[in-house]
Amino acid sequence: MLIMFMKCNKCESTYIVKSGFKKVAEGKIQRYRCQACKHYFTGVEKYHRLNEDTKELIERMYDEKGEQRKIARVLKVTLATVQYHLKKSST
Ligand SMILES: [Zn+2]
Repeated sequence: MLIMFMKCNKCESTYIVKSGFKKVAEGKIQRYRCQACKHYFTGVEKYHRLNEDTKELIERMYDEKGEQRKIARVLKVTLATVQYHLKKSST
């Protein structure tokens, strides 16, 4: 379950619950709430938006037969982020 990979971007707690949706121009995005510090955040930015360096590293490591799980761990991103990016760049 995706929620297990979520981490509060304020206090780094993993005690996160889903908290409805936030309306944006593109539709709606999942909103989360940290139970530890009560901070609200959305998962999308951290999840899909990678900086160029990270994108390049994902591709390079993958080309060198890097396991997706390992790439995610080394780059400190979620496995879903790696998979999402590789899927996007392979099309
Ligand atoms: Zn927090």
